[in-house]
Amino acid sequence: MAKVAIIGAGVVGTASAYMLCKAGLDVTLIDRNPGPAQGASRANGAQLSYAYGDALASPSFLAHMPEILLKRDPAYRVRLQADPEFLIWGLRFLFNSLQSRFIANTRYLLQMAAETSDLLGDVLKEFDLSFDYQSSGKMILYSTAAACQATAGTRRLKQSMGIRQEVLDRSGATAIEPALAHYPDEIARVIYSEGDAAGRPDVFCTTFIERLRERYGLKTIFGEEVEKILSHAGRVSGLAFRSREPLACDLAVAASGCSTELLPWRDRLPGALWPVQGYSISAPATEKAMRVSITDLQRKIVFARLGNTIRAAGLADIGARPYHFNGERFESFRSAAVEAFGQSFAHSSNADLNAWSGVRPCTPSSRPLIRPGSLKGLYLNLGHGTLGWTLCLGSAKRLATVIKETK
Ligand SMILES: Cc1cc2nc3c(=O)[nH]c(=O)nc-3n(C[C@H](O)[C@H](O)[C@H](O)COP(=O)(O)OP(=O)(O)OC[C@H]3O[C@@H](n4cnc5c(N)ncnc54)[C@H](O)[C@@H]3O)c2cc1C
Repeated sequence: MAKVAIIGAGVVGTASAYMLCKAGLDVTLIDRNPGPAQGASRANGAQLSYAYGDALASPSFLAHMPEILLKRDPAYRVRLQADPEFLIWGLRFLFNSLQSRFIANTRYLLQMAAETSDLLGDVLKEFDLSFDYQSSGKMILYSTAAACQATAGTRRLKQSMGIRQEVLDRSGATAIEPALAHYPDEIARVIYSEGDAAGRPDVFCTTFIERLRERYGLKTIFGEEVEKILSHAGRVSGLAFRSREPLACDLAVAASGCSTELLPWRDRLPGALWPVQGYSISAPATEKAMRVSITDLQRKIVFARLGNTIRAAGLADIGARPYHFNGERFESFRSAAVEAFGQSFAHSSNADLNAWSGVRPCTPSSRPLIRPGSLKGLYLNLGHGTLGWTLCLGSAKRLATVIKETK
């Protein structure tokens, strides 16, 4: 049985472990953190946005760029820098903002999201997993009818792919989600995707890994940083760690999020991946809290119900490298979240809020990199950007296919 080592136990590495265990491989899942999902997967927006797999680079994002560069949109920051990698990533991002690229990329992402939705159904039949999963739909709030109308083309694409979405007015949407009654601003239109879901990605990873240990004999190594991918005659032979003996393996999968230093230089294509930083809060839900996931498009904040907790996530700071928790940016996000749906969660003190920040590993096209690496036996499953939770199982399935066809 071929031995495969997966570097990174976020949602992508965990989903990859599942698909490769199912494919009959002897899998070891490794992370430098003491447990799974401590990177970008830890406290993200929690939304399984099957109907909103839209690529980040788009004509509308491009049209909005002057506002962003002038810092007139608090949800985005672009830190321009003379780093050649950033410039290449930026140019490729601009190219992917063309309408034709946006449509092709979005179609690709929606297909992968649909695969994740189907596979998650299979996983939930096979395993007893509790991660505050609920399939209660998602609403996107538009402050003007024109802003909603501008998405008609993308909605037609989704419709042609069998994705169901409804356009509602405020009263129709409030009848489904009463929390909208407390929203302070104009809601001209709401796009409602009944099939979308939410769940805690970190708890999913932790419990899923336990089940995979029991059912498939998955092995794990936590708290150990992989320092080097070892090779012999152009083939992966093992992994070297910072502080333990090497691990022999036939195949290695890089599911290491934004960290690509480990990869041979030929696989570190300049401008392939760039971190986009965001923030979240998770606070106790009040009686007035939403059940349906909500995206406040004006503030660009997503809200999800996770059991007795409300998770809000937002901000996209492009160019933060190395990144750190920026108190000023967090405060702008926190106050916007409270302004929008402060009635839904306890927020009298910052201690209630479990502030968190993470970086989305973004490719210029929003398509993840799922492909063989330059060494025989090395594979990449990286770059899931703003949608890693929504794409993880579909992406892992494609990885398993690539490995089967090329190993
Ligand atoms: C604020 C925010 C909100 C988001 N909201 C959503 C959402 O609502 N829905 C959605 O679908 N997606 C969302 N995302 C995106 C999603 O969180 C990411 O796409 C996803 O978590 C990426 O998963 P990953 O497994 O690739 O990376 P990570 O979770 O970062 O995992 C990579 C792992 O690799 C490990 N690692 C790296 N290098 C090494 C090494 N050398 N040795 C050992 N271990 C190593 C790291 O420790 C880490 O645990 C959001 C992201 C952010 C930041």
